[in-house]
Amino acid sequence: MSGATFVLNGRSVPFKLGQFILDAARDNGIQIPTLCYLKGLSPSGACRICLVEVKGARSLMAACSTPVAPEMDVATDSPRVHEARRLNTELLLSAGRHDCLLCEANGDCGLQELAYRYKVDGSFFPRNEDVYPVEDINPFIVRDFSRCILCGRCVQACNQLVVNRAISHGYRGKDSKIVTGGDNPYHQSDCVFCGQCVEVCPTGALTEKKMRGLGRPWETKRIRTTCPYCGVGCQMWLHVKDDRIVKVTAVEGAAPNDGRLCVKGRFGYDFIYSEERLKTPLIRENGQFREASWDEALNLVASKFTEVIEKHGPDAIAGVSCARSINEDSYQMQKLFRAVFKTNNIDHCART
Ligand code: SF4
Ligand code: SF4
Ligand code: SF4
Repeated sequence: MSGATFVLNGRSVPFKLGQFILDAARDNGIQIPTLCYLKGLSPSGACRICLVEVKGARSLMAACSTPVAPEMDVATDSPRVHEARRLNTELLLSAGRHDCLLCEANGDCGLQELAYRYKVDGSFFPRNEDVYPVEDINPFIVRDFSRCILCGRCVQACNQLVVNRAISHGYRGKDSKIVTGGDNPYHQSDCVFCGQCVEVCPTGALTEKKMRGLGRPWETKRIRTTCPYCGVGCQMWLHVKDDRIVKVTAVEGAAPNDGRLCVKGRFGYDFIYSEERLKTPLIRENGQFREASWDEALNLVASKFTEVIEKHGPDAIAGVSCARSINEDSYQMQKLFRAVFKTNNIDHCART
């Protein structure tokens, strides 16, 4: 049904058949706030922040999960909508312990942003005084259940985006929480520490452990790069403060990873600052290593290869390229073996 229109804030605008109000509004330049919505996944309608007014409907509708119909009349910013969003933000704030000053998400938190936008201070409802134990026993991810708003984004990301199926909704009522199988800590569960749940969490309920205290969002700059760990070439953002990486996130909407990273790409950057990092080649002599120049080391390797080939022929040597090299390096290595050494003894460690 091309050419179909609906009324958005008093203006007739086009939409695509099957689109939800949220997406159609965004296509027409109207941003409706959300907390639980994850682009490309089935909407859960859990947070009730994207409520909009649809003319003729008895109650407010969740824009993320209500399909647009031709000539539907939708108001996204009416006083009734604002009041509902304000009330729902109050409820979310009062249900947890939200001490923003101490929170790693301060300045990059969807709930904080809504509280600011709708002038909510969390004092309207009695606060839930329960303080849930923080889980920070693993090296990568801190889980603070008192800051969790049960939006379910982490569950969707784990199950539908990276398909690790490590977490789910557990318990009921005021005991509701996000759980692993058996409600064990992450490191004793099926979690592979890809960190996708952290990436999508809109609050400080899931944060990167290694960045604790290292920099606020407004103090860091983002630098786009390609993950150095393997040949897939995932696109990532380095969050850098004072020339030091404090965290890594994935680039959304960019091939090949489209917002995903694995544990190595997301958390494995400490080696850059390791005191044990080798910065010059080492040559072993009499059982001891000594530092050498690159020229000396490369000449030694070349002379050894030449010696073996002259004595035993080119098939006496073999090469295994590293999965952590970039594709171009692996390509050059097979060229070196086939075209220069004249042997097909070349393989890649991903096949072992
Ligand atoms: S999760 Fe958000 S609202 Fe809660 S304490 Fe952290 S920054 Fe504040
Ligand atoms: S780190 Fe990855 S595997 Fe573990 S719970 Fe989060 S999304 Fe699932
Ligand atoms: S941990 Fe974060 S993403 Fe998961 S339900 Fe809680 S607030 Fe939402």
